[in-house]
Amino acid sequence: MAAKRAVKRAGAVDSKPSASRAGLDRLWAPWRMEYIRRADAPTGCLFCRVAATSGARADARDLVLARTPHALLMLNRYPYNPAHLMVAIRRHAAQFHELDAAEGAQVLALTALAECALAAEYAPHGVNYGLNVGKVAGAGFPGHLHLHLVPRWNGDTNFMPTVAGTRVLPESLTRTWSRLRKAIAALPAAKPAAPTRKAAAKPRDPHRGT
Ligand SMILES: [Zn+2]
Repeated sequence: MAAKRAVKRAGAVDSKPSASRAGLDRLWAPWRMEYIRRADAPTGCLFCRVAATSGARADARDLVLARTPHALLMLNRYPYNPAHLMVAIRRHAAQFHELDAAEGAQVLALTALAECALAAEYAPHGVNYGLNVGKVAGAGFPGHLHLHLVPRWNGDTNFMPTVAGTRVLPESLTRTWSRLRKAIAALPAAKPAAPTRKAAAKPRDPHRGT
């Protein structure tokens, strides 16, 4: 069937094992073809452009959710699923071994922040973490390291496959951006990394016995 073949060509994010023919369900994201075509155009590096901006207006335009001195958290404008996020290093660096300790720590800190915001606002059943290094591996901006977080819900591979090559997402990007900005602002500032690990927030006195 043509539709099934199209799913395979589109590739995407692997999901849980199932009884499907290939043994895997796949998210079908045909709207991303626009992104893939654009990525070949000489438009410069998205992340360098966004890193060079600041302020509320720029954040709204570029769907930026959080900035630290060395990293960015933003929405993907061509999402595989609603609230598809990206964490990028600010500097144009391609691989982890090029990062210094502060950069690596901030990429991880924003990834943790993204997890918390997604959990608080969208309660996904799971999250796919994706890292594509190099164009052959699927990176849209292969010279600039960035991590994808794609929230997943049970049954999301069955979302309405498509009429005329499009997919109806449940809300606008602007709405998603607004919801996640509020969720981030409401998170406890001192412990964005692990709200479920209560023990981590209460350091143990090393001089006391257990
Ligand atoms: Zn760049």
